Amino acid sequence: MTAPPGLRKGWCPGALRPMPAKDGLLVRLRVTAGRLSAATLRAIAATGREHGNGLFDLTSRGNLQMRGVSEARLPRLLETLRPLGLLDETAAGEAVRNVLVSPLTGLERPDLRSVAHELEQALVADEGLHALPGKFSFVIDDASLLPLAEVPADIRFVQAAPETYAVGLGGCDKDAAFVGACTEQEIVPTALRLARAFLQRSASLPVEARRMRDLLHSVAPEAIVNAAGLPSVPCKGPSMAEPCPIGLLRLANGAACFGAGVAFGRLESPMLDKAAEAAETFGTGEIRLTPWRALVLPGVASANEGALIASCSQSGFITDRNDPRLGLAACVGISGCDSATTETQADASALAGFVRRLSPTDIAVHVSGCSKGCARSRRTPVVLIGRESRYDVVLDGTAGGNPLARGLTMIEASAMLETIVRERHVNP
Ligand code: SF4
Repeated sequence: MTAPPGLRKGWCPGALRPMPAKDGLLVRLRVTAGRLSAATLRAIAATGREHGNGLFDLTSRGNLQMRGVSEARLPRLLETLRPLGLLDETAAGEAVRNVLVSPLTGLERPDLRSVAHELEQALVADEGLHALPGKFSFVIDDASLLPLAEVPADIRFVQAAPETYAVGLGGCDKDAAFVGACTEQEIVPTALRLARAFLQRSASLPVEARRMRDLLHSVAPEAIVNAAGLPSVPCKGPSMAEPCPIGLLRLANGAACFGAGVAFGRLESPMLDKAAEAAETFGTGEIRLTPWRALVLPGVASANEGALIASCSQSGFITDRNDPRLGLAACVGISGCDSATTETQADASALAGFVRRLSPTDIAVHVSGCSKGCARSRRTPVVLIGRESRYDVVLDGTAGGNPLARGLTMIEASAMLETIVRERHVNP
């Protein structure tokens, strides 16, 4: 299976431009604002069974990815997706639609879905912006119960007051360069101007920047804002903690949602059917995809918490905030990727006993099939990187970091983690 022609560096798969993987084509669905009806989710599940291997990934950008699609089946699959409203007109337009909006938007604060949609359409319509790097992304965060504070983006808008959004460049809330503020109506034009300024300033470098944070290494944030024709008003960004989207989520207005976690982001098609059923039985019939490898069912009654836990956990979802699998990240590994030589998800599961002793709330262990680190780009207390059926180990870094130990078996890696936990005296 060969890579599709004309791919940009750092490209991400889509539906019109799927990515070849060991188990077949990866078909990624970019769902505007991450919202699906139960009927659409069921249709996606059935399509995955019919044209793929019935496995799905929920990605760290809140996209749903169908696995194991054969090239022969792809045309039929696309025919099925089009009436569901899940297909773009062009692959270039699909690729540039990297807009992530708060998963709970419209539930306790004003609905930003139309802003996200408008931005996506503007990006699609402006062919000059199709030159943006494949992973270039936008975040629109209403800073409600599930803030996107820790989700990296090239250009971010974070609600700082009822009518005001802080504008940030690169990184997450804590390390982005916040350069000004705008109203909700100004989000789309501001995003487009900054994206064009990125391309302009990047083209002036000896080596073009792939992401905004790379550009910021060479160009001051004020210069990017000036190139965008915007006033530069450096300001402090908001600071919010990483949310836990699992279980009953009570909103400030008294409404409630239910979050169902997905271990390693891996879904089997019956899980999608069960999520659709739970959304119809207990919620509004809507499902929202999140970037934390969890689905959220809006509009549930608190009194149904027990029934939701029973239904979702029987279907294979994580419903307990203390479940150690929430502290693990792992890519597909040897079963789905030619670059892997290890069973990453099984090996990560074997390390579940360490995670909460390393980090009480966040991802503590990342098991990566190779140094690309697809499952997690952020720093993690312990990273195992597969190489020749063994693991190199990086501490407090990323999969591309400098290993402290090399070529360990899982038994040796496990023993190393035991020592680390003991030495750190973290909740032994
Ligand atoms: S991290 Fe490496 S092995 Fe894992 S999915 Fe990505 S490319 Fe494949």
